[in-house]
Amino acid sequence: MLMSKNLQNFPRVTLGHLPTPVAELKQLSRALNGPRIFIKRDDLTGLGLGGNKVRKLEFLLGEALRQGCDTVITGGAAQSNHCRQTAAAAASVGLACHLGLGGSKPAEINGNLLLDYLFGAQVHWCGEQRKGEKLPIIAEKLATEGRKPYVIPYGGSNEVGALGFVAAIGELKRQLSTDSPIRHIVFPSSSGGTHAGISVGVDIYGLKANIIGVGIDKRPSTETAYEVELASLANALSSKLDLNKTYNPSNFIVRKEYQAPGYGVVSDIEREAITLLARTEGILLDPVYSGRAMGGLIAMIRNNEFPKNEAVLFWHTGGTPALFDYARDLL
Ligand SMILES: *Cc1c(COP(=O)(O)O)cnc(C)c1O
Repeated sequence: MLMSKNLQNFPRVTLGHLPTPVAELKQLSRALNGPRIFIKRDDLTGLGLGGNKVRKLEFLLGEALRQGCDTVITGGAAQSNHCRQTAAAAASVGLACHLGLGGSKPAEINGNLLLDYLFGAQVHWCGEQRKGEKLPIIAEKLATEGRKPYVIPYGGSNEVGALGFVAAIGELKRQLSTDSPIRHIVFPSSSGGTHAGISVGVDIYGLKANIIGVGIDKRPSTETAYEVELASLANALSSKLDLNKTYNPSNFIVRKEYQAPGYGVVSDIEREAITLLARTEGILLDPVYSGRAMGGLIAMIRNNEFPKNEAVLFWHTGGTPALFDYARDLL
């Protein structure tokens, strides 16, 4: 365990139905003839159909309200779970919400996008720019109209949002018995807030587990560009928390062998993972993130990467509303 500043020092709004459940997936373990598998159900964080961004938004909106902002702006893909959860969170605390989404308005509005509109978000279509590149322009325009906007970066992944996952590790630690067999935590890793927050959280709370992110979205530059981003985010978080620790890119495990089909492209591994978990446990995954990460976990188990006496925790990050927009790729 490392000493750090208490999380109570940071402004936070209550948005999630926490703690989310931890359950064992006995039928899945049996079907794979694998180690014990547990699941952390962040698909059940509650607000606006749930997901991991609710945890980040508790701190991000806490900060937006502290600064006296009246509007939040964020961005992502048309089926962004982050944008949908931001729209719900903004509505719940009385802030206006503007979203910069990739692509152009589709003929059929479905999944997360449908929910964005139901939550009253104003959508700005951004073409090729699906990672919030246009947010500063939207913010500037809103400011000239007399609004006070708070910009939330792509995926809510800065040191404020990542505090939500430091808190999540405290929550998990309180849920696990001291003799818990869990030695590995596997989850989808994409914009980095989840991965950086979990990594810093396990150091603060002294949880002994390998942290294994399954890469979702290839970075166009170098092979380790994402690990560099993770280290930089973890270091920003570390200094925010007065933690006496420096992170290096080599501290982060990102399994990149499952991201080849491309971001948001469903291939056999996602299809198999989604149907297998649905049919063995009655639990839904999403096509972009948790489906790919579970596909990776299944491949790692088949590859005998985990000793039989070391349990794995799969962190379900949500995203299930996107299933409906991917109907034709799933069956
Ligand atoms: C955003 C998201 C992730 C990735 O979390 P990051 O903090 O962006 O790495 C994983 N799963 C789902 C369902 C998400 O919406």
